[in-house]
Amino acid sequence: MGPTFDERRGVEYRQLRAASLVNRLNARPMPFGWTVNPYRGCEMSCKYCFARYTHEFLGENDPAAFERRIYVKLTDPGSLVAELKRARRSGLLVALGTATDPYQPAESRFEVTRRVLEAASKVVGVRLSITTKSVLVRRDLTLLREIAARSEVSVNFSIPTLDQALARRLEPRAPRPDLRFEAMTALAAGGIPTRLFIMPVLPRLTDGEANLRALLVRAREAGAEIAESNVLFLRRGTRETFFEFLRAEFPELVPEYERLYADSAYARRDYVAGIEALVRRLSAEVGFGARRRADRPADSPTPSQLSLVW
Ligand code: SF4
Repeated sequence: MGPTFDERRGVEYRQLRAASLVNRLNARPMPFGWTVNPYRGCEMSCKYCFARYTHEFLGENDPAAFERRIYVKLTDPGSLVAELKRARRSGLLVALGTATDPYQPAESRFEVTRRVLEAASKVVGVRLSITTKSVLVRRDLTLLREIAARSEVSVNFSIPTLDQALARRLEPRAPRPDLRFEAMTALAAGGIPTRLFIMPVLPRLTDGEANLRALLVRAREAGAEIAESNVLFLRRGTRETFFEFLRAEFPELVPEYERLYADSAYARRDYVAGIEALVRRLSAEVGFGARRRADRPADSPTPSQLSLVW
């Protein structure tokens, strides 16, 4: 198949032949051992998306290409089942959507994620987690329940703010936050374990106590079992796009971000420690167990935002 153009959305889709869709993760202290990313690029266009650099591997150096030229991985159902059986034998978690969103708009057309889940439904005992900002995951509720009956599956909803206007500026083509919570409610009611990922926490934009508390309260109401957070990580590729966004939309915040991210892709440690303490306290207050995924040693080069969703 040659490139497919969606004129209305202004997006081009290309097929990508990948050696395998289920990839072993090596040498990282992660809570999962395998990753699956059905798409390269993501139309949802979040200004802070850390996966932007991955388009460079395809020779795509224009930042806009990440949002407008989406690569769709080819699948073979037989290979998928074999790959998932290999993952099952390892006993390690298979994380779906660690780089790009598996339920981005392309999924409604190409259904690669659905084919992964169909294969997973044939592998009893496989352990899956899915991370998304999309409400399209509701489409697969029946299939997820089939998997949950014989294996392990959970869905993480990434929701950094309840402020719809701010969300529209930060995540131009992602579903509204309230719709994401509705999807969380539907899945939890259907027996699928769900989690809130407050990721990323954006300094001076989404890090206020009122916002964080409101997200946690809403997640409890929606039936989430766990809430986790992580502060913005600005790796090369993302840093340029995010600062360009800040200069256009929130120029008054540029000096503060330059201070917080002066030396590293990570925010200053004192800031991160403050956010972690705040989320821990608020989580306990609203009834979540205090938990933050301790999967990154203090001196690890592994990006913190990436460490939770890669
Ligand atoms: S939904 Fe996820 S993968 Fe897509 S642009 Fe936003 S952060 Fe990136």
